Amino acid sequence: MCPVSGESRGKDRARAFLRPGFFRSLEKFFEFLFFPSFCQICGKFLEAPEEKIVCRKCWEQVLPPPPGHCFQCGRFCELAEISFLCLDCLRQPPWLTIHRSGFPYQGVLKEIILLLKFKEYSCLARPLIDLAFRYFRDDHALWEGVDLLVPVPLHSRREKERGYNQARLLAQALAEKVNLPWEAKVLKRIINSPPQTSLKGKDRRKNVRNVFQVKKGQAIVGRIICLVDDVYTTGATLNECARVLLNAGAKEVRAVTLAQA
Ligand SMILES: [Zn+2]
Ligand SMILES: [Zn+2]
Repeated sequence: MCPVSGESRGKDRARAFLRPGFFRSLEKFFEFLFFPSFCQICGKFLEAPEEKIVCRKCWEQVLPPPPGHCFQCGRFCELAEISFLCLDCLRQPPWLTIHRSGFPYQGVLKEIILLLKFKEYSCLARPLIDLAFRYFRDDHALWEGVDLLVPVPLHSRREKERGYNQARLLAQALAEKVNLPWEAKVLKRIINSPPQTSLKGKDRRKNVRNVFQVKKGQAIVGRIICLVDDVYTTGATLNECARVLLNAGAKEVRAVTLAQA
């Protein structure tokens, strides 16, 4: 994150107040009172009415995905120009039939996702989906026949601590874009396992084994489900959700994430 000293923030704030016509609208005034008025990435003063939490210039620095990816697990490949089936999917096909991410999990985008997850800036879910959706909107294989969007659940204790489940906010925003229903109560996380970020490979698979349970079974029987989450790393969490949903009668499970690490 770009470090911004308190001193330069103070000067920026003073300059902004002195500028004629600063409070262009009452809305901007209340926004100034209740929202952070500086970009949480670069520290620039947020002057435009549509700028919230992150400035336009920082959003513009988000890198697009590379053109090539595995057409099953969705893993990006810098060297490939077209879709392919990766070795991992050939050796051991995942439970997910298709997964797509909007971006590589790096740079400014990573910082924005961390703001959404850990700094209580839930209002970033919608612009993140708006941006990612550009890259998988026209993927017919992904969307064809999907009946229901289902966010990856947090354990109730963790959701209470955070105040929200970011995957649920993303699913809600995405549902509006693709005009599909979404349902957060289909899956429940019954064990509060340690965060996946603290683990590697095999341990990640073990860590999520049997932590999910299907609650509203009738909503998924014979249906094509699209899971929604923020970050895809090894795919262990999404594949465990898919396994549980398929065992409960789902016809097929696909997934969408904002980014892949
Ligand atoms: Zn910025
Ligand atoms: Zn693959």
